[in-house]
Amino acid sequence: GLILCFGEMLIDFVPTVSGVSLAEAPAFLKAPGGAPANVAIAVSRLGGKVAFIGKLGDDEFGHMLAGILKKNGVSDDGLTFDQSARTALAFVTLRADGEREFMFYRNPSADMLLTPNELNLNLIRSAKVFHYGSISLIVEPSRSAHLKAMEEAKKAGALLSYDPNLRLPLWPSEKEAREKIFSIWDKADVIKISDNELEFLTKTNTIDDATALSLWHPNLKLLLVTLGDHGCRYYTKKFKGSVDAFKVNAVDTTGAGDSFVGALLGKIVDDLSVIEDEPRLKEALKFANACGAITTTKKGAIPALPTEAEALELINKASQWKTI
Ligand code: ADP
Repeated sequence: GLILCFGEMLIDFVPTVSGVSLAEAPAFLKAPGGAPANVAIAVSRLGGKVAFIGKLGDDEFGHMLAGILKKNGVSDDGLTFDQSARTALAFVTLRADGEREFMFYRNPSADMLLTPNELNLNLIRSAKVFHYGSISLIVEPSRSAHLKAMEEAKKAGALLSYDPNLRLPLWPSEKEAREKIFSIWDKADVIKISDNELEFLTKTNTIDDATALSLWHPNLKLLLVTLGDHGCRYYTKKFKGSVDAFKVNAVDTTGAGDSFVGALLGKIVDDLSVIEDEPRLKEALKFANACGAITTTKKGAIPALPTEAEALELINKASQWKTI
């Protein structure tokens, strides 16, 4: 079945040396990114069928990104180009305290200008899973395009998968970020958040089951909380639990969450009953954790996304260590 990822694709400019502020960085490398695009490439690299819907600038960077999707086996049937606005840029640095700092150039960028009329509805209606974030909700017209795409996908029977992927600097205020992120909350079948997003959305700094379950909604099928090198927690109507992370030498966690989501969606797209079967869900999440872990071992998101063979190799190695 087809997995469809909706949202932004952009270029991250990443300092050539780590642990410096943006101002101190001597030079930057181009790193293609944008969470929904990363998820699409994650799915494809693992062998799944996937398309990306979004808008890029009709400029060299936009065409470069379109080429990266194509080269990675992601269908560009839903891709459009804007004649007036440029492809979004973000300068990203890993500060000495380990937190990422973002500075965005999008005033407006092409992705913000996707209109409902430009949506490829046939493509949307053919999706088994429709995945999206919240950045496309920030301004019009991409907000309306996002809402329409979600509605069409849902009507056609797709599973809706939501990773809010909070980028606070893009929002006018924290209040608006929470409001708009929650405005589509109860439409999602699967929600994946990180521990940081759990704290932000619930306005607490307790990461426990009660806090996670305060985000539950009646139609939700699966809530996932990723915990970096602590793996992930899962919640369904019938059961909850956690799956440990793999021990790896992490050098750059960019894209770990996207890799995790892509891997999970690939495991459920052709058999949604996996969500309701705890042993099989745990297997799928173990695979997703392995994919997330591998993604941290190389710089950049897209170059670090694993193939299925690489993920299975890590899983096999880890089980061998356990038996020794
Ligand atoms: P996000 O990128 O959304 O912040 P996380 O950092 O929580 O998401 O990572 C997603 C998943 O990737 C985690 O659940 C975990 O399985 C894996 N992962 C992330 N960081 C590490 C790490 N340092 N070591 C091992 N696995 C990791």
